[in-house]
Formats: sequence, C-alpha cells, structure tokens
Amino acid sequence: MTSTGPDNAGNAATPAALLRATPLPPLEARILLTHVLGWRQTQLITRADETLGSADVERFLALQARRVAGEPVAQLVGAREFFGLEFEVTPHVLIPRPETELLVETALTAIENLTRPRVLDLGTGTGAIAVAIASMRPDAHVHALDRSAEALAVAARNAARLLDARRPGGAVTFTQSDWYGSLGATLGFDVIVSNPPYIASGDPHLSQGDLRYEPRGALTDEADGLSAIRAIVAGAPARLAAHGVLWMEHGYDQAEAVRELLAAQGFVEVESARDLAGIERISGGRLAG
Ligand code: GLN
Repeated sequence: MTSTGPDNAGNAATPAALLRATPLPPLEARILLTHVLGWRQTQLITRADETLGSADVERFLALQARRVAGEPVAQLVGAREFFGLEFEVTPHVLIPRPETELLVETALTAIENLTRPRVLDLGTGTGAIAVAIASMRPDAHVHALDRSAEALAVAARNAARLLDARRPGGAVTFTQSDWYGSLGATLGFDVIVSNPPYIASGDPHLSQGDLRYEPRGALTDEADGLSAIRAIVAGAPARLAAHGVLWMEHGYDQAEAVRELLAAQGFVEVESARDLAGIERISGGRLAG
C-alpha cells in the first residue's frame, strides 16, 4: 500500500504518531515518551506534531519493547511518584504503591499532636514512607532501616534530594539492619511503620507483572507471608515510647491475623484501615502505657 497518511512509517516520528501506534496503555506510553524527550506531559499535546530526532525515536521504541516484554515502567524511567514526591527507583527496591500512602497518612495522624516526634520505618526500600513523613513533618526525627545496602543507597539519595537539608528534625538516619537487629539502643519511638514483605512464598502473583522484576526479598518472607510481620510486632514494644503506635501494611486477606498478633503482644486500640479499593490494607495499635 502506498503511504500518504500520517500513520505510515515514514511519518511516524512525531509524538502523536508514536502514541497512536503504541501497543502500550496510553498513560504508560506517555510516561516513557516524556522520559525520553525530557518533556512535561502537556508538551505531548502542545508539540504533538513536531518531528522527533531519530535517536529519541529509537530510545522510545527500545523502552517500549522492554515494557512490552514485562519490565516495570518505574524501573524503565528510574522513578515513581509517591505522596507528591518523585522517588528514584532501581531494581534493588520495591516500587512505591499508591495504597502505601494510607500508611503515611495514618502515621502523620498519629504524630499530629506531638512535637519533634520520633519515627522508625522498617524495610524502607526507596525510602518513600520515611521521606514522605519527614517532608510533611520537618521537626520529626526519622530513622529508616533496610537489610539491603543497595536499597539504603537509593533511599539516602531520595532523602538527600527531596528533603530540606536544614530541616529541624535533621537528616533521616539510615541503618543497615535486618528488622531491629542492628538498631542497638535506639529506643523511644512514637511511631513505628513498615511495609514489609507479606506475600506468601507460593503466591502466583510473585511470577506475574511488575513483581517479577522487583527484589524478591521486598515482596515475600519465603514463608506464610506473616513472618516479617510477626518479627516486627514482637520487637516493637521494646522500641516504642509509652503510648507509641505501630502500623504495618499487609496483604488483602491478612488484616484479622495481624490484629490478632498485635493484640497477643499487648497492643490496645488495635484496628485496620481500608485503602481506596476498600481493602483492609494496614493494621496497627497502641502500646498500653
Ligand atoms: N503491595 C505489593 C503487592 O502486592 C506487595 C508489597 C509487599 O509485599 N510489601 O504488589
């Protein structure tokens, strides 16, 4: 067929044509294309018919092919927005999820009446939870742990880039630690938060979608999905201040089990909260004074 229309290969080098031809969901294609071009999303509209350089087109098509093969968009562009902040993402960290913003909001509510609150984030990954809390509460002292040195490096870069260096609470403190293992005598936290690996080892989701490309140790405990949560709950009372609270994210069907673990450890005011999909996604409680 002779090609005269805008969709033919010879004329494909505009944003409009690339986005028409993409096999990807439109939003994903737009994220990859703005990443390659260094444009804002709105420029894909205002500059839709500009002819693009062949190097840019090739870079876009290469990323598109990798996405079609399964790589997560956040890893392809090296970033994901969380709580209004743009976090660096690498294959060494869990990609921040929108439902985890509920954990941040709940932690912020727990410290709203405290001055200079002390916050501990266990298994920080990108640092999304710790940095989001620190950005909203410049006076908070925030301590974040991860057992992965690679993850801590990503988290430290995110904290340095996203937080005011002169925040009154000081820089986020990062420690390489397997749960509380290397925390030493750092005690008296007002809030402990965690989004731990809570997927059971045999869960088929581990071999689907983005999860195939994320660090397995951030997703599964290689057991029943509750072993990390058990360790976090068991170690929390010794590290919390009187009346301190612990909140954890968990799987869609784990809320009751997590509430039981909290109650068995002596927590009071034990409750769960639902994410935007209506799923009980986080559970927490308060240390009885
Ligand atoms: N929310 C992630 C998922 O189910 C799991 C994250 C985690 O295990 N903490 O895709």
